[in-house]
Amino acid sequence: MSRSGLHIGIVGAGPSGCYVADAIGRKLPGVRIDIFDRLPTPFGLVRGGVAPDHQGTKNIARQFERTLGKDGVRFLGNISIGRDISYEELKAAYDVLVITIGALEDRRLGIPGENLDAVYGSGQFVAWYNGIPDGRDLDPRLDGKTVAIIGNGNVALDIARLLGKTPDELAASDLCAHARAAFESARIEDIWLIGRRGPLEASFTTAELAEFGDLARAATLVDPVQLPQTLPDGLSEEQEKVAAKNLDVLRAYAARGEQNDRPLRIHFMFHAAPVAILGAGRAREVVLERTRVENGRAVPRGETFTIQADTVISAIGYRSTPFPGLPFDAARGIVANAQGRVEPGVYTSGWCKRGPQGVVPANRADSLAVAELILADLAGHDGVGKPGAALIDALLAGRGARAVDFAGWQRINAAEVAAGQGRPREKLARLEDLLAAAAG
Ligand SMILES: Cc1cc2nc3c(=O)[nH]c(=O)nc-3n(C[C@H](O)[C@H](O)[C@H](O)COP(=O)(O)OP(=O)(O)OC[C@H]3O[C@@H](n4cnc5c(N)ncnc54)[C@H](O)[C@@H]3O)c2cc1C
Repeated sequence: MSRSGLHIGIVGAGPSGCYVADAIGRKLPGVRIDIFDRLPTPFGLVRGGVAPDHQGTKNIARQFERTLGKDGVRFLGNISIGRDISYEELKAAYDVLVITIGALEDRRLGIPGENLDAVYGSGQFVAWYNGIPDGRDLDPRLDGKTVAIIGNGNVALDIARLLGKTPDELAASDLCAHARAAFESARIEDIWLIGRRGPLEASFTTAELAEFGDLARAATLVDPVQLPQTLPDGLSEEQEKVAAKNLDVLRAYAARGEQNDRPLRIHFMFHAAPVAILGAGRAREVVLERTRVENGRAVPRGETFTIQADTVISAIGYRSTPFPGLPFDAARGIVANAQGRVEPGVYTSGWCKRGPQGVVPANRADSLAVAELILADLAGHDGVGKPGAALIDALLAGRGARAVDFAGWQRINAAEVAAGQGRPREKLARLEDLLAAAAG
């Protein structure tokens, strides 16, 4: 049976969408694949999330670039599903639809004071320093001496490390010019990295944790009292390995002591749950409650204390943002699905399928599995397809929507790299500049 008449639509050109396109292209040669993104640029959080000083991680984009450039694959950037094209229209156009929209919305702390000025979600803050157009004008307040970062994952570490680095340490990064200027004029003296649970429950990876040992001007402070002497029973082999390595790194920081010659201090603080943010108009303090861990959960101990925090950044996870009609599991903040199946002909993969966990390559297995499902479900298909691009292009033209194609992205890329002047690139962070560069 020939499948060359089939049209596949993928919503989201992040890692998951690219892995799905690659897998489907290999398993169903000859099908036409359209891959949409709301941004004029592809690669999702590889461009807009991964820290600008982690250029090695961003290299994976080259692999995705090859996928987008393949025959039969079209990139349609600057097309937001739910705004430019509806879910119903996509289902009418494509034989198979795969939703890979990631998880872009910050989870809320749900405590008083969260809406004060100078309180940000990490998604907003990262989008700002990474040049995502929606985040470009955040202009976060970094004018105080203290920053509290709430959360114990790699995103919290990224933010603390970037704020702690000197301009020299950021010279080889693609941190956007507006963020470099803001970091350079900041006079931060203390950064608190706050976890509700203990060091064993933190989801840092050891490599990210170890980077704090090399910072030029920042001291990394850990109170040895907060570190357990031994590992508890009941951890899986993998958990035990990670926890033991992380503890070694934290113990080494604790052993260094005060490092009083450093102008900036990064404090790891465990077993502290935020209960309120205080301030008149803007954040000034965070009230924390001491906790202990029981069965993996933080249990309050009824004792509160306060730290100064002129800026508060929460990094406690994300939710997907559904578009109208998309089956959605609101409690979990993910696309409603059963092992990747959403409804007949519609599938999902990546962070919007399983929640915001896992590094870039972790999405590959998910995407391969979805490609297998699609292949199985298409087994009896007669190969006569839906209209695909013919319908979509007519709809977009009628609405005056301006899609950025793969050649347009390559022009953006070339313009950014040329503007880098020794840096990997200088990102275009405003939509109008991206569209102008795409048009050449
Ligand atoms: C701050 C941060 C730092 C990270 N650092 C690392 C790291 O150093 N190393 C590592 O391996 N992993 C890192 N990760 C994890 C990694 O980024 C994810 O595993 C991966 O990006 C998830 O891929 P995805 O395709 O599911 O989602 P995403 O990468 O979020 O891609 C989703 C895409 O869908 C698009 N989209 C959303 N809604 C719509 C819509 N309505 N219409 C059209 N398009 C839409 C988005 O614009 C986006 O391009 C980091 C994550 C974050 C948040």
